[in-house]
Amino acid sequence: MSAELNIEEIRKDFPILDAKVYGKRLVYLDNGATSQKPVQVLETLDNYYKEYNSNVHRGVHLLSQVATEAYEAARKKVASFINAKHDHEVIFTRGTTESINLVASSFGKLALKKGDEVLISAMEHHSNIVPWQMICEDKEAVLKVIPMNTNGELLMDEFASLLTDKVKIVSVTYISNSLGTINPVKEIINQAHAKNIPVLLDVAQAIQHVPIDVQELDVDFIAFSGHKIYGPTGIGVLYGKEEWLNKMPPYQGGGDMIKTVTFAKTIYNDLPYKFEAGTPDVAGAIGLSAAIDYVNNLGLENIQQAEHELLKYAMKKLSEVDGLRFIGNAKEHASLVSFLVRDIHPFDTGDILDKQGIAVRTGHHCTQPVMDFFGIPGTVRASFAFYNTKEEVDLLAAGIEKAVMMLS
Ligand code: PLP
Repeated sequence: MSAELNIEEIRKDFPILDAKVYGKRLVYLDNGATSQKPVQVLETLDNYYKEYNSNVHRGVHLLSQVATEAYEAARKKVASFINAKHDHEVIFTRGTTESINLVASSFGKLALKKGDEVLISAMEHHSNIVPWQMICEDKEAVLKVIPMNTNGELLMDEFASLLTDKVKIVSVTYISNSLGTINPVKEIINQAHAKNIPVLLDVAQAIQHVPIDVQELDVDFIAFSGHKIYGPTGIGVLYGKEEWLNKMPPYQGGGDMIKTVTFAKTIYNDLPYKFEAGTPDVAGAIGLSAAIDYVNNLGLENIQQAEHELLKYAMKKLSEVDGLRFIGNAKEHASLVSFLVRDIHPFDTGDILDKQGIAVRTGHHCTQPVMDFFGIPGTVRASFAFYNTKEEVDLLAAGIEKAVMMLS
């Protein structure tokens, strides 16, 4: 059972929501790009740097031990948040992008050879396209794409026929960052596994909106960024099943990822350190842990419920704006609306909204192939968090009306 969140109280945890932009109170609707941080996260970071800043896994001194314990507790926190079987299946990275690059490079070296195929979808963020293109070029493998329909839904029949013996990995997004589509990931995983093909899920836009249980999904890899789930920038997570991570070669070499080094030979460290070369983002990991505590306190199901209500309201309200059309009309939809108004360029709409203190994102949202598919230069995207309100949606709708008045 979900409980109603007290948004007014919750907003007090986010000092930036009181900021003024061009003299107007900020209406922050760019949560898909990055989320705002509650004081609980800010204080955790401040406290770390003031009280126990130290490198991890290296010092015998007390501060280093305290920092190491906090860093490893953060790993445990993430593992429990996504229900990983083992803590060492959680690798800290810089973000989703680095997590996917790690898998593309390392899994690619392990498993790809000439003529093999990697299967992604038509709605991927560039960070789930380019790393695969790079490794495919290296290995003379082929990148294949699951197509979508004009609602922004994957064509599952096409997926089934693309799943041939040549495919060595499937890598798809859980929720599209430019269309809001929620993909049928369980079905994708089941079908791929029926052919012994592992699956990576890009959960950059899902981890903050829907509960994710990696064991229940039986997913092989997931990738996400701390900054999109109310944590700091510079920290991210790669979850990988132990059996894959053990087989995969290290991604980067350096300190911490080794057991012994001689000029003749290096013995690599065990998981998770094998994949964490160099000083990690200690503060970031501890900050992410605080962000997960914050989300757990509110309850992800309550968050989901509040955001669902807000999305429904926004779709209704914006559909009343004359000449507005949504890009992406998937039945299963979350967290954001992407749209165009009449023939107004999305940058112009975004610019007028900005002058009214309303922060949205405009452009291709790092999904240029999606824009090419729809034959448009980009969209205006309003992406929501649980701290957004219906009043803010009203301001967005009024702001768009103003843009229409000024520009058409
Ligand atoms: N994948 C998706 C679906 C995203 O929305 C984003 C960021 O917008 C990324 C990957 C990349 O995340 P980051 O830039 O934090 O690495």
